[in-house]
This record gives sequence, C-alpha cells and structure tokens, in this order.
Amino acid sequence: ATPTALLVGTGRGAQLGILIKGPEVLESTRRVDTVVLDKTGTVTTGRMALQDVYAADGTDEKELLRLAGALEHASEHPVARAVAAGAARRLGLDAGALPAPVDFANVPGNGVRGTVDGHVVLAGSERLLTDAHITGLDELAAAKKRAEAAGRTAVLVAWDGAARGLLTVADTVKDTSAEAVRRLRELGLRPVLLTGDNRAVAETVAQAVGIPPDAVYAEVLPCDKADVVRRLQDEGRVVAMVGDGVNDAAALATADLGLAMGTGTDAAIEAGDLTLVRGDLRVAADAIRLARRTLATIK
Ligand code: ADP
Ligand code: MG
Repeated sequence: ATPTALLVGTGRGAQLGILIKGPEVLESTRRVDTVVLDKTGTVTTGRMALQDVYAADGTDEKELLRLAGALEHASEHPVARAVAAGAARRLGLDAGALPAPVDFANVPGNGVRGTVDGHVVLAGSERLLTDAHITGLDELAAAKKRAEAAGRTAVLVAWDGAARGLLTVADTVKDTSAEAVRRLRELGLRPVLLTGDNRAVAETVAQAVGIPPDAVYAEVLPCDKADVVRRLQDEGRVVAMVGDGVNDAAALATADLGLAMGTGTDAAIEAGDLTLVRGDLRVAADAIRLARRTLATIK
C-alpha cells in the first residue's frame, strides 16, 4: 500500500503545481517546524524598477546615470538590471549603447566594481563603499535612510574615490505572500525572512506579510545563507527553505526540505527537493499539508 499512497501524493502534487523529486521527500516534510523564506523573488516579485535618482553636490545627474548604468549593465543581478534599464531609459538610450566597463567585478551580496570611461566606479551597498574607503558617504545618509524606510533598496554610487550619488530600486511584495504566511502559521510553522538586502528594507517587507522583526535575518551574504539554516537546525528546528536564486542553492540543499520557486534559477531548482511550479508561495503551505496528509494515509 505504501508505494500507491506515495504515488497518489505526488500525483495530487502535480495537480497543485508541485514537483516532487522523489517519494523520500515526503518523509522529510513531516517534522518541519520552521520555514525560511528568501525575500527577493520569493516573497517579492523580484521585478525591480529604478525609482529615485539622487546626485550628490557637484555631481551631474546624467553622468551618475551613465556611469552607474554602464557598470550595472554588465551584471545579471535583479538590482543591476533595474538600474541599467532605468538609467538607459532616462538618458533616452538603448542599454546596449552604454559604454562597456573594463576590469568588471561582481562583489557577491554587495554590488559591482569596474572602470567606465577611465573612472573606477562602484555601485552597491554601503558596505561595498566603506570597504573601498570611499569618502563623502555622509552626504548620502539622509537620502539612503529615506529610501530604506520606504522599502526601497539604495544603490550607492562612487567613482574615483568619492561618493557621487544614490539610485533607488523598488520591488513589489507578491499579492499572495501575506496569505501564504498566514497559511504557514495555521500549520503551526514559524516563518522567517532571509535576505542579503538592508535590514530596514527587509523589515518593511516582513511587516507587509506578517513576519515580526525578530524573525528577520538581513544583510546576510550569499555564502552565509546556508549558515543561517544550519544555526536554526542547531537550535533544534527542522527547517524548510524556500528560495529562487543562485544565492539560495546552498541553503536549499542544507535545509531539511528545500522548496524552489519554479520561476527561479536552475541552480535553485536543482538544489531543491520540491519545486513550486508557478512560483506561488501559498503552494509551499499546500505542499507541506499534502505531505503530512499523504504520510497519514500510509500509516
Ligand atoms: P538577496 O538576498 O535579496 O537575493 P543579494 O545577496 O544578491 O540579495 O544582494 C544583497 C544586496 O547587495 C542587494 O540588496 C543590494 O543592496 C546589493 N547588491 C548586490 N548586487 C548588486 C548590484 N549588482 N548592484 C547594486 N547592488 C547590489
Ligand atoms: Mg531571491
């Protein structure tokens, strides 16, 4: 009877838009008590758009857009795509017409660096700029604080050693996310938010979906996301992780149950035990409920 019950479970799963790697996956969902949610692309749509442009005193706004846009055009990061596309549009150009950076480097979880038109340009988090000993950051502090309080990610821009301005990008919380968090709680699970983004932005998103600030892990580097999962496991928790990005792959593999957004990257889907085909977070709760019920049938 066991194999039949498992097949029924996985068949129903397919109907709901859940792909299950193997029947053994159902077993590992039984004891899950904590669900770690990646922010960008999981709780939010991940489709970001450029919003505010703030040039520091003495900086030409067009130059700010051109250098930041050119640099970010070399990156695949959702923040970078938003900056490059938005900058090009505001300059009335095609993003492909922006100069190509040389000596380009991604700094995971922090931003990008490269040389554009002979200027050494940085775009990203405050940490990226302070690590590079950039001057004039104070001048951007107020604009940064305003952006983050509004839930927007601030991209700080510097070149030739000085802070030159700030661009903000906004993401949108999926309209299914608050409902999903509610359903997870109904199943007795503790939802946790995990992100590389700034704490203020993370807490704004958390509040919108009903996750308290003490369940928010923010400013976590991509290489440290799996450690957060491990730490929760060390506290005795049985952890499900839901994510979509390359950054989430290690955490998905470390978790007792990895749920990948079907709308996400191949790396996440490969690392997960389950795939939520439509990228609807509510289905994460359905998957856990289904697995519990299926196991109850077997017993
Ligand atoms: P998440 O965990 O939300 O998927 P990441 O770990 O990839 O985010 O990035 C964390 C933060 O680092 C971003 O919110 C952003 O502030 C900054 N960042 C990363 N890459 C870039 C980039 N290419 N341009 C600007 N900022 C970036
Ligand atoms: Mg993500």
